[in-house]
This record gives sequence, structure tokens and C-alpha cells, in this order.
Amino acid sequence: MPRPESKKWAERRDRVARFILPVLKKTYPAAKCSLDYGNPLQLLVATILSAQCTDERVNAVTKTLIKKYRSAKDYAAASQEELEKDIQSTGFFRNKAKSLRGMAQALVESHDGTVPETMGELTSLAGVGRKTANVVLGNAFGKNVGVVVDTHVTRVANRLGLTDHLVDAVKIEQDLVRIVPQDDWTLWSHLLIHHGRAICQARKPKCEACPLLPHCPAGPKFIRAEKKRGDA
Ligand code: SF4
Repeated sequence: MPRPESKKWAERRDRVARFILPVLKKTYPAAKCSLDYGNPLQLLVATILSAQCTDERVNAVTKTLIKKYRSAKDYAAASQEELEKDIQSTGFFRNKAKSLRGMAQALVESHDGTVPETMGELTSLAGVGRKTANVVLGNAFGKNVGVVVDTHVTRVANRLGLTDHLVDAVKIEQDLVRIVPQDDWTLWSHLLIHHGRAICQARKPKCEACPLLPHCPAGPKFIRAEKKRGDA
């Protein structure tokens, strides 16, 4: 028989607060945003560039980019061709250059060249969706407005049995904000991303070595499957 809705959420909230969060905080005490930035604009640019690209590659590109483009005005004044060339190695550079220019032009025209601090204003900028806005609000402004849901957060949250949704990032975020304390929303994503990279990897999660194994419904299944493969 399925669990009543309220009981299900209470169990998830309790498991997060008593076990999952404390274990992850202890395991990854230095978890933080892996994009390099010195101000909100730099983080906004880096996050737009990070779509379908590794953070290492983005950091290598922004290292030079920030010396050339110091303000929203600089991006707004750049030609499409020149900006494409400067960000080419991050992939999807035509769309990204278009987004950066559109975003910067809106900042100059409507926000005095500064990055706004609300979800509504941020998501109205070119190339800025809820995920990018959450990254900027949480990390550059210290505002826990939502939870960043990327591929690692999606996978790990599903394996831990903390969401009912497999792929829809908006619905996964809605599930997570119900059970994670608001003060930890930004950190929560960093923790899950670190855990997804280090242990709960997509193809071969290292369940036997995972500190969350006693609190994870998927762990024993992965271990049994691995054992079966070994016995075969
Ligand atoms: S036990 Fe396995 S599936 Fe569960 S969180 Fe750890 S690595 Fe991921």
C-alpha cells in the first residue's frame, strides 16, 4: 500500500535533516561553487558558459575573459563575432555569445549595468533560466531562493529517494525545497554535486564506499547487481 503523502514527506525531511545533510557536510566540508568568480556579473557569465561544458573549461576561459570584459557595458558593446571567438572552446558558442550580449544589454538598459537580485528579474534576462538564477542568487548574493538542479543533483536525489521526478528539474526542485532546510538550499546542491562526482557516479556508483549507504534505498540494489555481475 502506498504511504500517505504527508508521511512520505515527513520521512524524507527527517532522513535529510538527521542523516543525509550531516553526513554530506562532514564528508565535503569545503563544498562550494566550482566556478571561479569575483563578482555577480562574473558568476552570471560563467554560469551561462557552463551549459554543456565542464567547470574547468569555463574557468580557463573566464580567466582571460574577465580581463577583456570588465563590465556589462563591455559585453553589451562587443560584436557577436568577437565574443564568439573569445568563448568558442566552451561549445555552443553562437547561442552563448548571443545570450551574453542580450543579457548585458538588458543589464545596461534596465539595471544600471548591475546584476539584479531577484528571481523574476534574473530569469527575464537572455539566457538565464531558473538554474542559472539560483546559482547567482545563492552564491553571489547569499540568498537561498531555490535549489540548483543539475544532472548530479537529479541523479543523486533520485537514488536517495528524495524526489518523485526523474528528469523535470522544476519538479525536482519543488520536491527538494519541501524537505531541505532553506538555510541549506545553496550548500545542498554543492554537496550533491560533490557526492555525484566523487562517489555516486552515473555509471558505477561506489556504494560500498558511500557514507550514505545506510540511508539510501538504491545502494543495496546497486551492490546486489554488482555482485551478480561478479558471480556470473
Ligand atoms: S549508496 Fe550508492 S546510490 Fe546511494 S548515494 Fe551512495 S553511491 Fe549513490
